[in-house]
Amino acid sequence: MAKQRMLKFVTVSKEMPEKRAADQRAQDFGEIYREFATKKAEEQAGRCSQCGVPYCQAHCPLHNNIPDWLRLTAEGRLQEAYEISQATNTFPEICGRICPQDRLCEGNCVIEQSGHGTVTIGAVEKFLTDTAWENGWVKPIRPAADRSESVGIIGAGPGGLAAADALRRQGVQVTVYDRYDRAGGLMTYGIPGFKLEKHVVQQRIQQLEEAGVQFVLNCNVGEDLAFDAIRGKHDAVLIATGVYKTRGLKAPGVGVEGVVRAIDYLTASNRKGFGDDVPEYDSGELNAAGKRVVVVGGGDTAMDCVRTAIRQGAQSVKCLYRRDRANMPGSQREVANAEEEGVDFVWLSAPKGFTGEPVDGVIVERMRLGAPDASGRQMPEVIEGADYSEPADLVVLALGFEPEELPTLWGVPELEVTRWGTIKADFREHTTSLPGVFAVGDIVRGASLVVWAIRDGRDAADSILRYLAQPAAVAAE
Ligand code: FAD
Ligand code: SF4
Ligand code: SF4
Repeated sequence: MAKQRMLKFVTVSKEMPEKRAADQRAQDFGEIYREFATKKAEEQAGRCSQCGVPYCQAHCPLHNNIPDWLRLTAEGRLQEAYEISQATNTFPEICGRICPQDRLCEGNCVIEQSGHGTVTIGAVEKFLTDTAWENGWVKPIRPAADRSESVGIIGAGPGGLAAADALRRQGVQVTVYDRYDRAGGLMTYGIPGFKLEKHVVQQRIQQLEEAGVQFVLNCNVGEDLAFDAIRGKHDAVLIATGVYKTRGLKAPGVGVEGVVRAIDYLTASNRKGFGDDVPEYDSGELNAAGKRVVVVGGGDTAMDCVRTAIRQGAQSVKCLYRRDRANMPGSQREVANAEEEGVDFVWLSAPKGFTGEPVDGVIVERMRLGAPDASGRQMPEVIEGADYSEPADLVVLALGFEPEELPTLWGVPELEVTRWGTIKADFREHTTSLPGVFAVGDIVRGASLVVWAIRDGRDAADSILRYLAQPAAVAAE
């Protein structure tokens, strides 16, 4: 019975859920894909060939049991499929929406490799969990018994929240501190709604609140509350603060009005989406409406900026990237979405300086790809004499993020960091140089992915539970 429903990849072609037309979706910040209808999800799941050695699973950072939940979906056993999918993933509906599947599970699907088009794993994962929420299958977190030990988590992004979920399920008292006024980290204020609608994140935060997780918001650790005070209050501490220092650009005019940082631009837009009062948006400083916008960078943050500018009603949107399309770090799927929505990519180009005050243009250097560097990646080289001027009223710099100097900011020089400024933590145990202090997510890995932060948070929770079980841990309180 089960077999008949599977292995349909030869007769059924790959289909994603319907994508809204580009001109329509450019009018709002709603997600661009609609939901699978149940029959379509079952049919698509049935394309899986049930590999004995599933490469999709091996390349999912959470090692999700993908073949099993695909088979159950194909058989119409949706609740069982959901139960299996949520067993290894704290936020499956979020990963289904925003994992770069082409680089992870789907990119390694054998059907994709054999030229039939991958099983649409992410879309099925999203469908299952959205269906579970609708049908009340997502159960409240109810620990069997409360424990006395408490853990303080600094940072309410996916790393901190995944750990909070796992620890609370074991009855641990959990307090999450965050400097923002809402939890969710970059899922709330970085990633735009057209990739991840905010109610999807909010319902998970609410689930944690209802489970008894305490959120202390508007609390900038190191400023409003000392790190040592948090250590003194809890039996263990988890640092999950992400990376927020914008990688700089040294060029004439970089500080002028109208040249802004991607994180400020995206945060203002997301805040506006929540209905907040955002003076920098209302004044036009962080609003692309009617402007000629130039975004600098080729990663996912740059893709989010260009597509946000389109939705804000920019007159034109150009993206400057110093390498070519094949060598950009951002997802090809997102580039295609941006192009459909009207973004113009100017490959092999980089800003040399900015003119005007406020900004009225970018001096652009043309580049070519030269010899590979030590990592094997071709280095961009300037083509002398080929500069030109690109008119711009708003320039958004999306050149990546670096960690803040936590040991200095928090007055804890004993907290060891790497030469890149990320926290030195054991990759398995997530322990740091300070006893009872653990660290996860981007602040350890450097700018990474939500799914890796979830994996870290889950593993760190196990490690913290082992630490709490040692008599010395609580005695040290
Ligand atoms: P964060 O999500 O950054 O959360 C850290 C939290 O710590 C924040 O809420 C912050 O306010 C808080 N904090 C920091 N310092 C302090 C302090 N001193 N005191 C109190 N609180 C503090 N990943 C994907 O998988 N898919 C995507 O599509 C994707 N798109 C992205 C788009 C953008 C624009 C950006 C910037 C990133 C994107 N990422 C994406 C990456 C992903 O968002 C991060 O890898 C992930 O959020 C890291 O999780 P985290 O928990 O380590 O940190
Ligand atoms: Fe794929 Fe991400 Fe889901 Fe893993 S968590 S199966 S990588 S979409
Ligand atoms: Fe199914 Fe593809 Fe995974 Fe094989 S690799 S189990 S075909 S989803």
